[in-house]
Amino acid sequence: MTTLTETEFLPFHRPSLDEREIAAVVDVMRSGWLTTGAKAHEFENNFAAFVGARFALAVNSCTAALHLALEAIGLKSGDEVLLPTLTFTATAEVVTYFGAKPVLVDSEPEYFNLDPDDLSKRLTRRTKAIMPVHFAGHPCKMDDVLEFAERNGLAVVEDAAHAFPAKYKGRNVGTLSPLTAFSFYATKTLTTGEGGMIVTDNQELAARMTLMRLHGMSKDAWNRYQQHGSWRYDVVAPGFKYNLTDLQAAIGLVQLEKAESLRSQRARIAERYTQGLQDSVGFQVPRVSDDVQHAWHLYVVVMSPEMLRIDRDEVIEELGKRGIGCSVHFIPLHLHSYYERTWGYVRGQFPVAEKYFNGCISLPIYPTMTDDEVDRVVEAIRNVSLRFRKVSRAIQGM
Ligand SMILES: *Cc1c(COP(=O)(O)O)cnc(C)c1O
Repeated sequence: MTTLTETEFLPFHRPSLDEREIAAVVDVMRSGWLTTGAKAHEFENNFAAFVGARFALAVNSCTAALHLALEAIGLKSGDEVLLPTLTFTATAEVVTYFGAKPVLVDSEPEYFNLDPDDLSKRLTRRTKAIMPVHFAGHPCKMDDVLEFAERNGLAVVEDAAHAFPAKYKGRNVGTLSPLTAFSFYATKTLTTGEGGMIVTDNQELAARMTLMRLHGMSKDAWNRYQQHGSWRYDVVAPGFKYNLTDLQAAIGLVQLEKAESLRSQRARIAERYTQGLQDSVGFQVPRVSDDVQHAWHLYVVVMSPEMLRIDRDEVIEELGKRGIGCSVHFIPLHLHSYYERTWGYVRGQFPVAEKYFNGCISLPIYPTMTDDEVDRVVEAIRNVSLRFRKVSRAIQGM
């Protein structure tokens, strides 16, 4: 116990950056071109090639990418969009930008992705689109989602903020449906500090999103300030200010080169956690479907409050005392005051997501973690499991 508390604090996240990202940013600073330019274009090209999509548009966040995607499919006031309650608020918030309604869907109990059976229960005549979220980096059952969308004439916009790089049935996330949004936020699997990417194979959607991501101007600044560019441009729509800078893209380019090796490092950590924790009483390790490649953005153990004498928050406190930083992903949207007040959601409506939330703990998982650090987390959880497990009467009587 004392040796554990004396160890240095293990934070929930550390970014995986080295001298190469630093040098790439310095190069951009020396180049005289800071905002969207050659680096952003190169990042888009390389990203599109990596996932195997025709178009990749770099933007300043995944939230922006999702917003542009919904604008491109023509979402209107009064429309409804199906999305999981178990997600970050960004997924739903962009729907409200249009005066449309986020219609929340429960999770399935295996991978905690959007439940295909619950989808059909929430369908109405106003339903316009579905936004599946590949929770923790485990792809959704996209065959079911796409089949449901086609049968009901719905657009699909994937929130792949957790799912880079990930595969479903051998195909990269980013090539499964017409529109997929990625996040390069500081804690995500590829980071540019802040940033995002929207990918599509559809030329019309790509053209619309290209226009809207920079003020609805017919030419972007990059073209205007090229040697043969002209000062003349036309504003054809009231667009947004969503472009990614070359400073950020330079980081992204280096990160992209490492993406596969960073993913296998996270997979190594996940494997070690699962080996160490799979028989810990009161803690359920994550399941992985045979037909996916997991991105391992998050490693979530789900504790069973009925098997331990302490609740989820107290487990996190106990781990904190042992020098380990954890987190919770996510508080289901319907439990937040805004969604309750504005859309009338109530506790009890999404039992799988709520049960999950009462037990979920995200453990540190990032490539720079050493095996010793992973083992420290495993030991701490095993220790909590032993100290706080409930002893049943049957066992006591033995
Ligand atoms: C992080 C996250 C987002 C938002 O990404 P940003 O790049 O910060 O806008 C959206 N959806 C989910 C599920 C996320 O985890």
